Amino acid sequence: MPLYEYDCQECHQQVTIWKSFSDTSSPCCPVCGSQNLTRLISRVAIVKSSKDRVRDLSWVDKNVAHRLRKQADGGLSPAFEQTLDKMESQ
Ligand SMILES: [Zn+2]
Repeated sequence: MPLYEYDCQECHQQVTIWKSFSDTSSPCCPVCGSQNLTRLISRVAIVKSSKDRVRDLSWVDKNVAHRLRKQADGGLSPAFEQTLDKMESQ
């Protein structure tokens, strides 16, 4: 299942939402229930049965994290910085 990360415009929480490919409904903030969410990043869930795929996605994650950091130029929220740290340490 794909993982979606959003910034809630109502309560300003960063939320992570798992959605199946067939679920086309608008995502709700799990904190306040608002649908006023801004998409941050997305990545495909790692398939554990495929070692190659895990390695490839880790590599992609690192690149994405690096690029996001560069683009944001220090303007990231602490929570998002943590997410990037996790991506880079995989
Ligand atoms: Zn909210």
